[in-house]
Amino acid sequence: MNQLNIYLSNLEHNYKFLQRNLNSETNLIAVVKASAYGSALPAIAKRLEKLGVNIFAVAYSNEGKTLRKIGVKSRIMVFYPQAYGLDDIIDNKLEACLYSVNLLKEFREKLILKKLKNFPIHIKYNTGLNRLGFNPSYCDWIVNQLKDDTFALKSIYSHLAVSQAKKEMKLNKHQIESFLQLREKHLKISKITPKFHLLNSSGLFNFPEYQFDAVRCGIALHGFANRPEWDKKLKPVAELISSISQIHIVKKGEYVGYDFGWKVSKETKIATIPLGHADGICRRLGNHKGTVSINGKIAPIVGNVCMDMFMVDVTKISCDEGDVVYVFGKENSISDLALTADTISYELLTAIGPRVKRVIYE
Ligand SMILES: *Cc1c(COP(=O)(O)O)cnc(C)c1O
Repeated sequence: MNQLNIYLSNLEHNYKFLQRNLNSETNLIAVVKASAYGSALPAIAKRLEKLGVNIFAVAYSNEGKTLRKIGVKSRIMVFYPQAYGLDDIIDNKLEACLYSVNLLKEFREKLILKKLKNFPIHIKYNTGLNRLGFNPSYCDWIVNQLKDDTFALKSIYSHLAVSQAKKEMKLNKHQIESFLQLREKHLKISKITPKFHLLNSSGLFNFPEYQFDAVRCGIALHGFANRPEWDKKLKPVAELISSISQIHIVKKGEYVGYDFGWKVSKETKIATIPLGHADGICRRLGNHKGTVSINGKIAPIVGNVCMDMFMVDVTKISCDEGDVVYVFGKENSISDLALTADTISYELLTAIGPRVKRVIYE
């Protein structure tokens, strides 16, 4: 038995917590890319829409198409459109976030060819993450491109590179300063007044004074904000559970798992759990890094994580085959698990594979 339990009441708690921390004029853009951070996109999107979300965001256009298929009526931003996905954006009434000269020109030509006007778009600036986005020096060029009625500019935004780090950090200060200047310049040289936004989840916790017109929250809806003191205000939505397939007694001097993963130094009770790296239990969690919780006790993962299963040391735990194993959730926080595996909650959550059944709790 493997289950990713999705607690929609916790999603609601997180959404309401975020809403309470927003200024009355600030909108919450619900980021549901990567199947709602690896959880269960239909259930998450529908509940958020019911709670009042009127704008979603995804990474790629096919994700927006999926949201439309599910029946989402709200606006949908596509953060990272690729040239091949522009038709999907048009056909599914999605909103493209344009980040480069080539992409903007291509989209513009497409719209003109299809005789479409006032198509909603967003402009993304690169202020220091150096991933995607227009260089701020393109401001005048962009404003020029918006002069006819091909595009309807909905918002202008940028993305922080270290939003969870100290407020005073130089890069944070630089990005905020650069965004403030861009905002001022746009408002000055253009008659259009789009919305402005800069913050993701940890950004909202760290810089509530820079909410502008919207914030883009993803991970916080799922219960995390990249600092323990912020995580405490939220509730984890996803809980991964499994059950013990088999228990072995392994003798002193024998090995557990592939490639002589772990040599036992005394007689040891080993439980095998039917989840592997194909299910998102990354190999970095093996060899005494990650732990699971069984009957209220902590059991370390021993040896190398296999594709379809992993083993834990349950010598000191009274347990039987079939007993429930808590991989992460309330009992074993995914942010702690991420720390031990040298990664972040985002990676562990989005890696949960399709073999794991999603079970929704209202
Ligand atoms: C993914 C993403 C977000 C959401 O970030 P969280 O840290 O999950 O809140 C916001 N903005 C952009 C541009 C993103 O790509």
